[in-house]
Amino acid sequence: MAKRPILIHPDPRLKSEAAPVGSVSGEIKALAADMLETMYDAPGIGLAAPQVGVLSRLLVMDCVKEEDQPPRPMVLVDPQIVWSSEEQSVYEEGCLSIPDQYADVERPAEVEVTWTSLEGGACSERFSGLWATCVQHEIDHLDGRLFIDYLKPLKRQMITRKMVKLKRERARA
Ligand SMILES: [Zn+2]
Repeated sequence: MAKRPILIHPDPRLKSEAAPVGSVSGEIKALAADMLETMYDAPGIGLAAPQVGVLSRLLVMDCVKEEDQPPRPMVLVDPQIVWSSEEQSVYEEGCLSIPDQYADVERPAEVEVTWTSLEGGACSERFSGLWATCVQHEIDHLDGRLFIDYLKPLKRQMITRKMVKLKRERARA
């Protein structure tokens, strides 16, 4: 396992649609392990493959917040939202590709998602609360969509300018 560098917005790879994985190769398994390590190290609660520069429909997440609860690392290959609740909920979202920027985003409060496991099995689960927000945020990444795309243009542009500046500073460092 190895940590991988996380792309920072703006980057064309974060705006691209990722391709279906299909059958799970050893390469995908290694990528999933690397992504989990990268996510926990960041630390974050979700990470999508395009964020590490791989345009494949794969995401990892673990939204367990309680310190007395065991971690629940999840790997979702080719995830699809098959049902969304009419009820909406608002969470203050952030993103490892947009460091230190947070904003309220409204999304369906519950979603049912189907995906393929790393072992190739068909999975399905209904997510609510933070898990629902996280899985929708990560699936958005697979479609080249960021949480700032839900914000008003002025706010989005402000955040993008900050990120351009951050990348310039990091490149000089
Ligand atoms: Zn994100």
